[in-house]
Amino acid sequence: MRISRRNVLAKGGAATLAGLTMPAGLTLSAAEDAQPAWTIGDFRITPLLDGVVEVDETIFTDADPAARRDLLEDAGQPEGKIRLDVNTFLIERGDTTILVDTGTRDLYGPTLGKLPAALAAAGVDPSDIQHVILTHMHNDHVGGLVDGNGKSAFANAQLHVAEAEWTYWTSEDNFASATAAGQFSFAGARAATPLYQDRVQPFSGTAEILPGIHPIALPGHSLAHTGFRLTSGADQLIIWGDVVVSPELQFAHPEWTSTFDADPAQAAQSRMQIFREVAADQIPVLGMHLPFPGAGTVLRNGDAYELTAL
Ligand SMILES: [Zn+2]
Repeated sequence: MRISRRNVLAKGGAATLAGLTMPAGLTLSAAEDAQPAWTIGDFRITPLLDGVVEVDETIFTDADPAARRDLLEDAGQPEGKIRLDVNTFLIERGDTTILVDTGTRDLYGPTLGKLPAALAAAGVDPSDIQHVILTHMHNDHVGGLVDGNGKSAFANAQLHVAEAEWTYWTSEDNFASATAAGQFSFAGARAATPLYQDRVQPFSGTAEILPGIHPIALPGHSLAHTGFRLTSGADQLIIWGDVVVSPELQFAHPEWTSTFDADPAQAAQSRMQIFREVAADQIPVLGMHLPFPGAGTVLRNGDAYELTAL
């Protein structure tokens, strides 16, 4: 069921966008009437937008309030708020179809939950997804594992997630001991895990989970938050999940953390670790809350970093 998208892309063809400096090995194709997509070696990656969520800027509790507001105003964010894109990524390699994270379903209201429509627009039927890989199990990443009827959204998919992450979110003790607000954080996981428990493939360590895809431990945002390195020949790309929640704030201030982080200090450490690597080696990154289509390269500027969106 991917014929329609291939036809759409065929009309515009694949071309490197004029005026953009592309990292070696990464080709962006974007016909006017098609969704953007990238190729990296023999991986083809299509970004899919689940929607836009609005959060209070005060979730960045350790930020200087004036500096925080200046950065958000420069980025055109509304007073007191930060609007974040929620991205997921479709990966195709040969006959293998993979989805990384699944968006929110209806857990955060009507501005989100668009993944099913985005998949359809990309010409992919949910039953074609063979593997779902999760960066972590917060609601905006696991919500879409379940459809509007409470059924499995991806009937034929194996689920890949860090073992410690699965264990944490499926623990009745952890749920029972959470506050009411904390218990809402379990909503997506608790709806999904019974539907996938017979086809979950928990991973730990850095061993390859699918051909050319290796996990990168980036803990702190959640207990076992994980990025993924895609390697094909000499080319590579990193999907870093929620290393950055607010691009406006956390490239300028990698040390700033949010109340979404399970272990803020560890989250900041993981962010700086991956920033250093991708800046030094100019590895393109995809992020779940980078501005859609969610891709960029990172430059170091003293203690700060800058994102060049792709
Ligand atoms: Zn998130």
